[in-house]
Amino acid sequence: MVTRILLLGGTGDALKIARRLGSNDVYSLAGLGRIAEDLPCQVRVGGFGGADGLARNLAAERIGLIVDATHPYAAQISANAALAARLAGIQCWALRRAPWRPRPGDDWRFVSGWDALCIQLNPFARPFFTLGREPLSHLDTIPAHQYWTVRCLDAHPGNERARVIGARGPFTLEGEHALFEQCRFDVVISKNSGGAATEAKLDVARERGLPVLMLERPPLPDVDRTFDTTDALLAALETLRAENDARMIPPGSRRSEA
Ligand code: NAP
Repeated sequence: MVTRILLLGGTGDALKIARRLGSNDVYSLAGLGRIAEDLPCQVRVGGFGGADGLARNLAAERIGLIVDATHPYAAQISANAALAARLAGIQCWALRRAPWRPRPGDDWRFVSGWDALCIQLNPFARPFFTLGREPLSHLDTIPAHQYWTVRCLDAHPGNERARVIGARGPFTLEGEHALFEQCRFDVVISKNSGGAATEAKLDVARERGLPVLMLERPPLPDVDRTFDTTDALLAALETLRAENDARMIPPGSRRSEA
């Protein structure tokens, strides 16, 4: 039987993979962002109800392979995927995007979480948050000497101490130059997401000699196969598809290879 794939997504990389899936495969999204309407595969939206719920879904939908292409900081769904695959007796493959590495001239300071971040942030006045929505729940506690700029997917009115920019990458070097010039940031706060789409802010921070407070990556589970690029993962899916096709050809109709 052809292996039915469940792709866990919510990233640009996952969308690229979804565009190469078959009509029987399923692309799953948490439901926080935009949903493409022109995909060749089936699309489902919303949580599964933990690892147990995901394992039940795998059995009910006769999924033969999970592909985890979620964001490197989406640690819960990655843990659920690995456990559910084990419970269901199927393989879990994962795209593990390589982290960014500091280059000469970079001043990166690694922080483990929000509390550590606030301590490191104290000497600065004009931070630029590129962490997603987490800063939005702290807008009422901004110290009097700081003015925050928060860039995330959500539109939000901000307040007298914070401006929220609702925007989706990729972000260009030119656009980041203009934003840094306009806002006069003195520090950048980032996840170590890796990839090209949101890297330009780090180039501009380096050029301007600005420190970057980098949130450490969460630990992710071991899985059956990992890939560090979408191309490598797509090539493995192509091989799997060829193996599936070969299994579908009745033995009597195979050409002799002698
Ligand atoms: P998370 O903490 O790892 O997951 C929280 C819960 O959301 C999961 O337990 C699961 O609910 C549900 N979920 C997450 N991804 C899902 C998917 N692809 N399909 C179905 N359910 C999903 O994740 P998060 O950090 O909140 O991120 C949510 C989504 O946004 C992820 O899909 C991720 O790829 C994307 N994203 C995250 C970031 C980031 O910085 N965290 C950045 C860009 C994009 P149940 O337990 O009910 O199944």
